[in-house]
Amino acid sequence: MRITKSQLVEKPENWGRHVVILGAGASVAAFPNGDASGRKLPTMDGLIKLLGLGPVLKRGGVKSTRRNFESIYSELYESDPNLPVLRDIEDIIYAYFDSLRLPETPTLYDHLLMSLRSKDIVATFNWDPFLFDAWTRINDSVPVPEIIHLHGNVRLAYCPEHPTYGAHGMYCPKCDSELVPSRLLYPVATKNYVNDPFVKTEWEVLKKGLRQARTVTIFGYSAPTTDKEAVNILNTAWGKANRLIERTEIIDIKDKEVLWKQWDPFIVRTYFDCPEGFYKSRLASYPRRTCEALKDQTFYGLWVEENPLPAKVGFDELLSWVKPLVEAENNMGKSKDQGDADGGETAK
Ligand SMILES: [Zn+2]
Repeated sequence: MRITKSQLVEKPENWGRHVVILGAGASVAAFPNGDASGRKLPTMDGLIKLLGLGPVLKRGGVKSTRRNFESIYSELYESDPNLPVLRDIEDIIYAYFDSLRLPETPTLYDHLLMSLRSKDIVATFNWDPFLFDAWTRINDSVPVPEIIHLHGNVRLAYCPEHPTYGAHGMYCPKCDSELVPSRLLYPVATKNYVNDPFVKTEWEVLKKGLRQARTVTIFGYSAPTTDKEAVNILNTAWGKANRLIERTEIIDIKDKEVLWKQWDPFIVRTYFDCPEGFYKSRLASYPRRTCEALKDQTFYGLWVEENPLPAKVGFDELLSWVKPLVEAENNMGKSKDQGDADGGETAK
């Protein structure tokens, strides 16, 4: 028995969410040639050199800058959280990431967002503006998922007193104060997500999303070694997840055995895929129908024909390609899937 791609396009269901978690490796993979002007995205190890932070760090008394940036920042912060040099570092990093611009043609992040529906969730640890900007430019044309920010982001501002966030220049509807930029840097030893009001709310949304997830994709995120608090939170959320998760997919360039060890606590029922890149993932193979394809494959043992997202075309062609999928979703019978375990279409 088989499901053809046209059958897959024609039968969207509300069968749980697809949750995608993005780390720095995702942005690096999505923008191998940098931004619209060729400005590169730094990794944590290359940040000091690329942004010219060396002289500033020396001024702050840092003797060797040939180390991981986050640990240097943490040491400075722990010596004195009010050091003026910390402010200088934050300003330089903020200005660099804030200046990055999306290339005009569709990027991997446009493809990623279009491959999911509004019921799904994309959570990101990244500072860079690319996901936010891709969302902004396609959201009016295609229903795409909400983005959850697990760290601060250069495009986001928030009210420290109320659970409100938005773009820069917006005002809090509760207290009428102008929103303040979200914070990018935390000392690594005590990345205190729980005490940052903006990030705390976002983590709560992710935890809820994970409880309703049928499939989870982790893309370019290597948390287990660098970010203890995040891993603890993920572990707790995963452990409490009502075992709806049928499949975990890790998109990473690392060796499969290394990934298996790294993500062992998160691998559910031994279903574990690790495609080398996004375009080989289930997201790109079954865009907007990842949960439906999974249901047919795992519950009914059917072979499901792939419907690969056209990666090398411009926006007009891409939007025409995605149109039949969106139309079928819009026509989806409202009563048909009600009562299914997973609730509605909105993320928040
Ligand atoms: Zn407020």
